[in-house]
Amino acid sequence: MKILLISPATDAKKRTNKGLMMPQLALYILEGLTPREHNVTIIEEEAEKINLDLECDLVGISCMTANAMRAYELCREFKKRGKTVVLGGVHPTLLPDEALLHADSVVIGEAEGVWKTLLKDFEENHLQSKYHNPLPDLAEYVPKDFRKIIRKRLFRLFPIMTSRGCPYNCDFCCVSNLFGKKIRHVPVENIVRDIQESGARNFIFLDDNIIGHPAYARKLFRAIAPLKIKWVGQASISLLVNDDELMQLAADSGCKALFIGLESVCEEQIQAMHKAIKDIKNLENALAKIKKMGILIHASMVFGFDSDKKDVFDETLRFLMKNKVSTVSFNVLTPYPGTKVYEDLKRDQRLTTTDWRYYDHNTVVFKPKNMTPYELQIGKINARKKFYSLSSVFKRFFGNMYSPAIYFATNYGHMRQVRVEARRIAGIKTELFGE
Ligand code: SF4
Repeated sequence: MKILLISPATDAKKRTNKGLMMPQLALYILEGLTPREHNVTIIEEEAEKINLDLECDLVGISCMTANAMRAYELCREFKKRGKTVVLGGVHPTLLPDEALLHADSVVIGEAEGVWKTLLKDFEENHLQSKYHNPLPDLAEYVPKDFRKIIRKRLFRLFPIMTSRGCPYNCDFCCVSNLFGKKIRHVPVENIVRDIQESGARNFIFLDDNIIGHPAYARKLFRAIAPLKIKWVGQASISLLVNDDELMQLAADSGCKALFIGLESVCEEQIQAMHKAIKDIKNLENALAKIKKMGILIHASMVFGFDSDKKDVFDETLRFLMKNKVSTVSFNVLTPYPGTKVYEDLKRDQRLTTTDWRYYDHNTVVFKPKNMTPYELQIGKINARKKFYSLSSVFKRFFGNMYSPAIYFATNYGHMRQVRVEARRIAGIKTELFGE
């Protein structure tokens, strides 16, 4: 059987800057779970054009919320061509009934434990409409064939995920709805095997918190240190800075940058989010400690909380510049379906659109409390512009001199994206903001 696996772009007409992209891990896990007698083709639309007439028996499409509309469009095109289409991923998991309006079958949650059954059912002509294995065991090794993308030079950073699940339930996050509240780990030996078999040198750990389970993290860092790789990942700042040994192990194992979800520099908001570090002074000390280890900091900031007033943009920039943060994702609060934020804003009739294409954490899709949607949108863009201005990049370099190549390469990538974003918002200004 010929199987086509697709990760759709958000906008089929645009290709993303490859330097900032990584392969969609879900597709490679599906390929690894597929019995050898089948033939799998993977297409990542952000990097490659999709041939809708490619010969295949079954099409699997994995999508998030922002690319769900494009996934539905592809479902229509493939079904028009007589193909059977299966949808999976974050958005179909949160809204399976919506996804079923477009596909023949939906995989809810993780593919382990259901993908082989689905393929067999399809071959035997009794495909079910939904497949769901709530808490699959991650102990079995699933090979991921990254070698062909290395040959095609499509991506420079390769994804690894060591765990799934989160015991918390933050208002704006749907991770525990997707993967459950219990943290499950992939055995460390399997992670080492993934790295060794990939042939790649640069990795991104996709875990929401790579040190969420400190004993596992210690074992992992010790096991990968001899592999001499470079990696970036996401970590809880409080857990890290309170454990000097763990921080040293992370650095020794090749950690070059950490994605830290600061979200806000407003103490009222920090406390509302139940962060372990609750005041700015301690936050600054924690950032300085990480930088001393030679690890770059990529901060994630979110604008649009109800506590945010119009001065939030300047305040945030002051903090980021003062602490010479290496790079930053400037996001707007996005009410992803399945989160409390979504339910609250919907109940209060504050959603301005339910066109999922705009649920991309870059576009304002709700009415903020203390400014207009357009003021929030422009404030976010201007903050990004100022942060990635040439003078800002050079000023911040003096706090990031330990990794000049990565610092300049990542800042340059972001600088290029600033213009792309400004143009995109100008194009949808009337439709979305009536301005
Ligand atoms: S934001 Fe992080 S800690 Fe909160 S629920 Fe999501 S993954 Fe868990």
